[in-house]
Amino acid sequence: MHNTPERILVGSLQKFSVEDGPGIRTTIFMKGCPLNCKWCHNPELIDPQQQLIQSPGNCIGCGWCIEACEKGALAMKQEEGLVIDRTKCDVCLACAKGCYAKALRPVGKEMTIDEILRIAGQDKGFYDKTGGGITVSGGEILMHADFVNQLIEQAGRMGIHVCLDTSGFGDSQALMEMALRENVTHILYDMKSIDDKVHKAYTGVSNQRILDNLNMLAADAAVLDKLIMRMPLIRDVNDSDSIIKRTGALYREIGIKRVNLLPYHNLGIGKKRNVGGIEEEFQPPAENRLAEIERYFKEELELDVEILGNV
Ligand code: SF4
Ligand code: SF4
Repeated sequence: MHNTPERILVGSLQKFSVEDGPGIRTTIFMKGCPLNCKWCHNPELIDPQQQLIQSPGNCIGCGWCIEACEKGALAMKQEEGLVIDRTKCDVCLACAKGCYAKALRPVGKEMTIDEILRIAGQDKGFYDKTGGGITVSGGEILMHADFVNQLIEQAGRMGIHVCLDTSGFGDSQALMEMALRENVTHILYDMKSIDDKVHKAYTGVSNQRILDNLNMLAADAAVLDKLIMRMPLIRDVNDSDSIIKRTGALYREIGIKRVNLLPYHNLGIGKKRNVGGIEEEFQPPAENRLAEIERYFKEELELDVEILGNV
């Protein structure tokens, strides 16, 4: 067992979330991810460091931040409004501290396990009534494995159930340790593409470790029951017949019972621009294609299938 880091950077805590596992939940979004999915809907959580994010719609054009920035990283342009030169910005956050319009904000707040559970624990009554709990999400939770394992253990002592949301790209032993914990009731496991070429091209990493970890989890009967596969669906990227059928064959082989389908939406695009990234837009599968995929998993594989709104 390693020493558990005392604090990690949390992107946000979302209360009353209903799409991150069953019932009413508090989702803890941790910062840092080893993948870089081109369609990521939380691109502000990829970088493990604190970042500066802009909300251009909030800016009232007062110019205070330009004066406050000692690095000369800010300028007001006629067409674009306030522009950040990220090559000069060292994320000192002086500008964000004084922007009362909240047009400049930090992404990532250091939090301890106690601080997280103090907030999450406030809604325990709702969790108990609805079969909910907390969901640990990211970013990628396996980047903070010791912290997450400790968080789960402490949540267990408070009688709080935990859902894991993971890409599966990380240390196998740490993942298994989390998965086997009694108060971990659900595991949302991403399946971005079973085709490794596609996986590498669109996420930046091979899917080999993800598939190995999935096989490992599914081989344990108790863990298999907790697994819900999450499939982001992007038109002409991972919705082809060959990819869907190969995925289905794997699910059948290892005994998967539940699948969430997540057709692409473009809500991440603005956020990517606002943290200084270059956005790329995709399309969800055509309606009839989504219906075909749903029918395939439901009728041919007899899986429990749900279509959700978030990629
Ligand atoms: S970002 Fe904030 S401080 Fe800067 S000009 Fe806009 S409103 Fe003013
Ligand atoms: S974070 Fe610091 S360096 Fe970056 S724009 Fe704001 S004041 Fe300037």
